[in-house]
Amino acid sequence: MPNVVYLDNNATTAVAPEVLEAMLPYLRESYGNPSSIHTFGGLVMNRISEAREALARLLGAHPSEIIFTSCGTESDSTAILSALATLPDRRHVVTTRVEHPAVRTLCRHLHDTQGLRLTEVGVDHQGRLDMDQYRAAVDDETAVASVMWANNETGVIFPVEECAAIARDHGALFHTDAVQAVGKVPINLANSAIDFLSLSGHKLHAPKGVGALFVRRGTRFSPFLLGGHQESNRRAGTEAVPNLVALGRAADLVLANLDKENTAVAALRDRLERELLARCPDAKVNGDSAHRLPNTTNISFEFIEGEAILLLLDQHGICASSGSACTTGSLEPSHVLRAMGVPFTAAHGSIRFSFSIYNTAADVDKVIEVLPGIVRRLREISPFGRK
Ligand code: PLP
Repeated sequence: MPNVVYLDNNATTAVAPEVLEAMLPYLRESYGNPSSIHTFGGLVMNRISEAREALARLLGAHPSEIIFTSCGTESDSTAILSALATLPDRRHVVTTRVEHPAVRTLCRHLHDTQGLRLTEVGVDHQGRLDMDQYRAAVDDETAVASVMWANNETGVIFPVEECAAIARDHGALFHTDAVQAVGKVPINLANSAIDFLSLSGHKLHAPKGVGALFVRRGTRFSPFLLGGHQESNRRAGTEAVPNLVALGRAADLVLANLDKENTAVAALRDRLERELLARCPDAKVNGDSAHRLPNTTNISFEFIEGEAILLLLDQHGICASSGSACTTGSLEPSHVLRAMGVPFTAAHGSIRFSFSIYNTAADVDKVIEVLPGIVRRLREISPFGRK
């Protein structure tokens, strides 16, 4: 779509031109099945190996530690269910109150249907993990602790290495949902206590439909999908070859450009934040600014509805997102902001702007030009109080 100001990159990203170019031959002429005995298929298998090596390089991992999946959600489920299957005597799971539904809903489902003990660790008012609570939660019955690397709504980064070490001390496995972190922060799993790490292609300029799970060498593993020998018997199903190739190319691009791109993206984000806070009274950033992804800001505009702001921004071609979800006719504020204790009137008016390398200074100018007027107009008709 032309003229769109796309500031919703934590939802999904554009496929990078280099990534598209790399995957196209595997949609056109090189369509062989990598499991085939003939050379035509075998060549495709070589390309998958290269993609696996690229992803391993990005993570500081060994290629044998990478399992390709269909998405971040599948990776999360695979890791948590594998931990529970391989440690059947341990019936406790630790996670946080601010996880993405891919982890949160699964853990609650396991608690509700299989009687697993579940501890959800809280965060403080800046969205930082309560480490005292975490330390107290992990015990010798814990099978797995699952703590996200970075929060999708606020961008707040958690001390996952410290969390992993604590889990290991108790003989528990540690999983991190790094779907928002990979591509935005440096990651090196070489000397880490992290056993499982999930990532997703479409958050780092690869297409939708591909993810990966890092499984540390020596970690016992129980597959989620059965019925084929693919991925060394760890994930059955014919490989989505073009997507796997794309993820490998995206990983190479991240590795080559991360520092430079982070500096550029953070400069855009910081200018937007500064200008909006200066121009809009009763606006506040949610989350710990010192430990945050460089591309994310979550701002509450008090006394107005986030959904209304989004609709009006949309009329100007500006794409952002709100933490609220419209369920059964009632607007529920985000579980993340609620866990942080953000007041009701602020949580409802929260907007997330998330940048990528494809954003420009002109994108920021457009939001600064449009949003203060939208906030003013909505406050004039707000039933919540302050005008
Ligand atoms: N985990 C986090 C933190 C996310 O932000 C998302 C997507 O928004 C997911 C998991 C799910 O990833 P996918 O869309 O690839 O299933």
